[in-house]
Amino acid sequence: MKRWACARQICVADRRFAAPGGDRFWLIVFGSPFSPAVDELGFVRRFRTLLIMPRVSFSSSTPGCDRRHWLREDDIRVVLSRLPPDACARLRAVHFNDQSRGARTLGYVNMGHREIAICALPPRISLSRFLVRGQSPAAFGAQRGAQWPALAVRRFMLYDVFLHELSHLQLVNPRTNDPRRRFAMERLAQEFADSWRRALWAEHFQHPDPVHNSPSDECAGKIQPIA
Ligand SMILES: [Zn+2]
Repeated sequence: MKRWACARQICVADRRFAAPGGDRFWLIVFGSPFSPAVDELGFVRRFRTLLIMPRVSFSSSTPGCDRRHWLREDDIRVVLSRLPPDACARLRAVHFNDQSRGARTLGYVNMGHREIAICALPPRISLSRFLVRGQSPAAFGAQRGAQWPALAVRRFMLYDVFLHELSHLQLVNPRTNDPRRRFAMERLAQEFADSWRRALWAEHFQHPDPVHNSPSDECAGKIQPIA
């Protein structure tokens, strides 16, 4: 069943918002009629965030010792709002848990390839050892060999780890039941994460949290880091 309200308004604004894939998405309209006077692109972007949200549930466990969750539901929702609906279509839940096994695991997907876990980590950490070929700490706002600033950790967790895990949910060969061939594995997953991060950071994104932009935007003075 499709859950739409006032779909006509959205179709007027942008026909890309035509119902994507049955009942996989909620469309919630808060009663703001489309007006030609509204900046169309800004309107579409705001409404995309508000209106077409994958039905993703969130859970969070309390971490042990001094470990902490580096991401929150809002962070994930902003990233999802910036991706095409198809990229998020299989995602059903995000769990913030404490299963990093001594900071060895940052995130993983469940057996059904529908849910993502993002692991709690110590309050002071360097993630340089998790970088793959072609990545550098500076790309996230950190320095090699040094403890990573909180903002750099969050950037990496959100725009590398989360995107990487999301890509493991992508169907690459729907005709097979072998999960190793049915879903994106490591190489494709990292390519997906890297390409989407580059695309999302190529253009400055208006958001008060600098985690959603490249560190080069801070250097260019486009954003001011928050504590
Ligand atoms: Zn992976």
